[in-house]
Amino acid sequence: HNHIDHATPEKVLVAIKAGDTHAKIPEYETYEDYVAKGGYAKLAELREKGDWEAVQTEVRSSGLRGLGGAGFPSGTKWGFVRANEGPRYLAVNGDEGEPGTFKDRFHLEREPHYFLEGMLIAAWAVEAERAFIYMRDEYPAVLEILAREIAALEDAGVVEAGYIDLRRGAGAYICGEESAMIESIEGKRGMPRHRPPFVAQVGIFGRPTLVHNVETLHWVARICREGHQVMSAHEHNGRNGLRNYSVSGRVKNAGVYLLPAGSTITDVIAAAGGMAEGHKLKAYQPGGPSSGLLPASMDDIPLDFDTLQPHGTFIGSAAVVVLSDQDSARDAALNMLRFFEDESCGQCTPCRVGCGKAVKLMQQGKWDQGLLEELSSAMVDASICGLGQAAPNPIRMVMKHFPDEI
Ligand code: SF4
Repeated sequence: HNHIDHATPEKVLVAIKAGDTHAKIPEYETYEDYVAKGGYAKLAELREKGDWEAVQTEVRSSGLRGLGGAGFPSGTKWGFVRANEGPRYLAVNGDEGEPGTFKDRFHLEREPHYFLEGMLIAAWAVEAERAFIYMRDEYPAVLEILAREIAALEDAGVVEAGYIDLRRGAGAYICGEESAMIESIEGKRGMPRHRPPFVAQVGIFGRPTLVHNVETLHWVARICREGHQVMSAHEHNGRNGLRNYSVSGRVKNAGVYLLPAGSTITDVIAAAGGMAEGHKLKAYQPGGPSSGLLPASMDDIPLDFDTLQPHGTFIGSAAVVVLSDQDSARDAALNMLRFFEDESCGQCTPCRVGCGKAVKLMQQGKWDQGLLEELSSAMVDASICGLGQAAPNPIRMVMKHFPDEI
C-alpha cells in the first residue's frame, strides 16, 4: 500500500509564482527587513563551517517538540533521515487543517522568514536536495507572501532557483497527515500510507524525507539565532518551554497567544481577555477535535505534551476551543464526528464506516453507550491512521464527563 513510484519531481511540478493569488496581503517582515535584523547570518555561518550535530544538540536542549500535533522531539528526526542514503528531501507540513488551529498562518502572515530560515537550516542539517512546502490553499495571503519571499531568496542567492518548491493543498484535512501529504505532493490522491517504512526512510518519491511543521521550523531558526534558552528558560507549573495556543470559542478575544507550556485553561482564557460577556466555562477542546472535550472542573491541568495523557487526551497542535454553559457538549461532539466523517479518506473500513455509524448513533435521542463504546474500540484498534484512531475521543469523553446530556 505504499504507492511508491520513482517518478521525478519534475513530472508533477506546478510552481506557484508571486502574483498568482490576489489576496489582501497584510503588513509583514520582508526579506530586507529580516536581513537588516541579522537574518540569514546564522544560515550562512552554518553552511560555511557548521556542525549539524551541534545544531541538533542545541535544538534538543531547547526541549522543542514537533508542533504539528505529534510532539516528536525536534532534531531527533534529523539523525534518522541522515542515516538513510541520499538524495534526501525536506517537506514542510503547512496544511493546518485542524479545526481551531491558526498559529502557522499567524506566524507566516507576520514573520515568514523565521520559518524560511529554520527550514533552510533543517534542510542543511539533513543535506536535503530539495525542500517542498505543502501549504493550505485556504491561506491565499500566505501563498502570495511565500511566493514573493522565496523569489527574494532566489534573487539574493540564498537558494538556487527551484530549490524551494511551494505546493498548494486542495482542502483535504487528511493531507495534514504526513504520509498522505507526501502522496499528495507526488501528485496522487492523499491517503495515509501504512508504516513502516517511515517517511524518514521512504518518503517523497521513495526518498528519505524530513517532515516538519511550519511553527517547528520558526522555532528552529529562533533557537539557532538566540540560543536554546529562548524556549527552555520559560518555566510554569513544572513544565518548560512556550506554546502558541490558537484560542477560539466563548472568549472575549479569540487569537493566537504565546504562553508558557504549562499554562492551564484558566491561564489561556485569561490571556484571551476572559470569557465572553455572559458566558461561563463549561468545557474545552484542548488540542483539536481529535482531543475531544474536557469539563470545566478539570481546569488545572497544564496544557502541554504528556500532561493530558492521563486524562485520555493530548495537546496536539494546541487548538483550544472554549465552550460555555450555553453550549451542548453532545452537539459539539456530534459536530466533531461529522467533520471526521466528511474528512475520512475512505481507505479503511473502521474509519470510513465507523465515523458515519457513530454520527447516526449520536443523533439518536438516547445514546446506546454500549454500542458506541464497541464501535469506538474497533475504530481505535483497527484504523490505519490517526484520524480513525482518535475520532472516537469526543464520543468517549462526552460519555465520561457529560453523562447527563446523553
Ligand atoms: Fe483514511 Fe480514516 Fe483509514 Fe486514516 S483511518 S487511512 S483517514 S479511512
